[in-house]
Amino acid sequence: MDEKVEPFYDEVIHRNPGELEFHQAAREVLTSIGPVLAKHPDFAEHKIIQRICEPERQIIFRVPWQDDRGEVHIQRGFRVEFNSALGPYKGGLRFHPSVNLGIVKFLGFEQIFKNALTELPIGGGKGGSDFNPRGRSDDEIMRFCQSFMTELYRHIGEYTDVPAGDIGVGQREIGYLFGQYKRITNRYESGVLTGKGIVWGGALVRTEATGYGTAFFVDEMLKVRDDSLDGRTVVVSGSGNVAIYAIEKVHQLGGRVVGCSDSDGYVHDPKGIDLELLKEVKEVQRGRIRDYAERRPNATYVRGGNIWDIPCQVAMPCATQNELTGRDAATLVGNGVVAVAEGANMPTTPEGVEVFLDAGVAFGPGKAANAGGVATSALEMQQNASRDRWTFRRTEQRLAEIMADIHELCFATAEEYGMPGNYVAGSNIAGFQRVAGAMVSLGLI
Ligand code: NAP
Repeated sequence: MDEKVEPFYDEVIHRNPGELEFHQAAREVLTSIGPVLAKHPDFAEHKIIQRICEPERQIIFRVPWQDDRGEVHIQRGFRVEFNSALGPYKGGLRFHPSVNLGIVKFLGFEQIFKNALTELPIGGGKGGSDFNPRGRSDDEIMRFCQSFMTELYRHIGEYTDVPAGDIGVGQREIGYLFGQYKRITNRYESGVLTGKGIVWGGALVRTEATGYGTAFFVDEMLKVRDDSLDGRTVVVSGSGNVAIYAIEKVHQLGGRVVGCSDSDGYVHDPKGIDLELLKEVKEVQRGRIRDYAERRPNATYVRGGNIWDIPCQVAMPCATQNELTGRDAATLVGNGVVAVAEGANMPTTPEGVEVFLDAGVAFGPGKAANAGGVATSALEMQQNASRDRWTFRRTEQRLAEIMADIHELCFATAEEYGMPGNYVAGSNIAGFQRVAGAMVSLGLI
């Protein structure tokens, strides 16, 4: 890290004790931006780094709810409104027992730069709760979502803050959240949440967008190297929203996904994942990945194993943060991996990133590679604002263009700063420059 930037990082640690994931996300960005300060001394003068590392607003609230047996539970809700220099705060809600303020801040911080890379008018924010939806009935999920929104509604709005889904929050949860928002406010304000159902204001392709976008991004990285996904063996971790649609698009682009996972274990399916079966198990029955293996004779299930042991040429971590370590990266490199794209947020540890960069692997960091989801959310807001509805084809084409543009922006920025092929530096610098420039224009606020 540049010595001029280091004190700002020390300040982040000092001001946010114990928030390890936030420290990690801040470090990753700050490590890249020394050269930007040399080029733009006004950013230092306006204390942009210190301001960008401090959320504009952090909201923490109590969420009481009752389970089906009548027992009362108390959860904690969060919304961190990080930066609105480019537009209303935009970023998902995560429902998972691991959620705490540090996790929400790391995700919100990443979101600022990711959203800037889309070149759409959206700021950065993130939220969620330590609620665990696993094993809960639809009624319990609904009661929790209603209680959560009963506090959150006063902080959000189509011009203020527009949440969406993330881990544990899909279309079902967005439905219950939107229903409660509408009931409390008496406004059919479609643009207040994205990831809605198609018949009540959602955009086509939003469900598929993050996974599809990540696959488009890999293909762009490979194109630069006169290569493509066609015929490549691919491993995708996770089996949730991002993973399922990453697998779908990889298959459409000619690749073969031979492994996917959940938090209990992974499946290895050398003939290629049967996507219809996976969707049936995960989206319809809400089952586990071992249920897939039980119904697929060629597949093996490895309980508690490490999915990165499966040999592949392309790896797409699409589950959660820090799921791919330095050791896993070394295994992948040893097995001949040529490209890695992060569908999840910060899934690769700093040691893992270093291994990939040193080995010359095309490495697409999450803030660039998984930006297709939030970009399509912005397209959903656009359709809501104009009371319009685009076709699947038009929306997917727009998504593919956006991903190609993000790739080009990161690639060109890395070249401009003398780090050709380094998408980590390219994405951090390009995202930071956009937000910093807007912050200077808006004055000291
Ligand atoms: P999801 O539908 O809830 O799926 C998450 C998947 O990851 C599940 O298969 C889950 O398995 C697995 N997982 C979660 N924690 C894990 C752990 N500790 N170890 C191993 N596997 C774990 O969530 P999602 O929307 O696909 O999100 C996945 C990642 O993409 C997250 O990092 C999210 O922030 C990022 N992302 C999502 C979007 C979006 O549009 N949804 C956009 C950008 C980035 P279990 O069922 O066992 O928990």
